[in-house]
Amino acid sequence: MTEIIKVDPENPDSEILKKAAEVIKKGGLVVFPTETVYGIGANAFNENACRKIFKAKGRPQDNPLIVHISSIDMLYDVVSSVPRIAYEFIDKLWPGPLTLIMKKKSNVPDIVSASLPTVAVRMPSHPVANLLIELSGCPIAAPSANLSGKPSPTSFEHVKDDMMGRVDVIIDAGETPLGIESTIIDLTKDPPVLLRPGPLTLEQISRISEIEVHKGALGEISLDKPPSPGMKYRHYAPEKRLILVKNMDKMKAVLRNFNDPIVICPKEHKEMYKGYKVLALGSLEREYSIAHELFKILRETDKMKGEVVVVEGFPEKGILFSVMNRLKKAASEVIE
Ligand code: AMP
Ligand code: MG
Repeated sequence: MTEIIKVDPENPDSEILKKAAEVIKKGGLVVFPTETVYGIGANAFNENACRKIFKAKGRPQDNPLIVHISSIDMLYDVVSSVPRIAYEFIDKLWPGPLTLIMKKKSNVPDIVSASLPTVAVRMPSHPVANLLIELSGCPIAAPSANLSGKPSPTSFEHVKDDMMGRVDVIIDAGETPLGIESTIIDLTKDPPVLLRPGPLTLEQISRISEIEVHKGALGEISLDKPPSPGMKYRHYAPEKRLILVKNMDKMKAVLRNFNDPIVICPKEHKEMYKGYKVLALGSLEREYSIAHELFKILRETDKMKGEVVVVEGFPEKGILFSVMNRLKKAASEVIE
């Protein structure tokens, strides 16, 4: 049985959230909102509880979890050393959508880190996530709360579709503000390496330190030895065949190959595809709206008729670089 707990996203009532925190303390699973996407969380120090996350999601065990904390004290509970550069990122960007990879302390169970000597840590800024961690009194290990391979959940409806009956509690706090997963930086390397682009852009993090961009962060999926195990899996994929067209001029020619395709493009380009089923994906004038709506639109295509989805590509800069990373991983074909 899954209990649903509704809270105000900006001003959560701690009496209501205590119920969810009790479930975490007892080794249960709680789906909770963060500023990026919804996560499926368990006490990061409870091996059995963390094991249940993999089962609920159908996640391969070699794909480690991000440990969510609400204070710097908790950071020292999970990492064995904090490199000097970490403080620069922490001071400027935590709490926020930034995950930092550091050396793991041995009290973090191997199931959390997929037996790697490192651990991924993040301090979320969402008031509900923050208070839930604080009330639970322990770091919360949590991957995105989707079934493995599906687009990450950015609303209560998405988590209900994927996780009803698989977890103890779902916290309903409406839509998540940013809509794509955190930026991941590996701080065990010098210079630090961007493993996954996210809401904090390469331009923003490069102001803090020199950053190397791993080629997996560009969205290529077939890596022999990925530094971030999650990189090797196809992700975020809707059920239909998804074709990403990087060169907009080729859209019309690609569309002609299919019977009744679904088109995804920014609001400003909708008029160009008259006669087709079109889903508008945010606005080019507000680029963060494109990230915010991406996974919702991908999930919508699953509920529509048709076999093929054709997506217009974006210029790979700023937040749209992160959007293109997700689209490349969701796509079954990329047309240059
Ligand atoms: P999710 O929370 O579902 O976005 O998945 C967490 C992501 O963090 C996955 O892509 C993992 O591969 C990555 N990750 C977690 N721990 C580590 C680690 N120790 N080193 C590198 N990547 C990690
Ligand atoms: Mg995920």
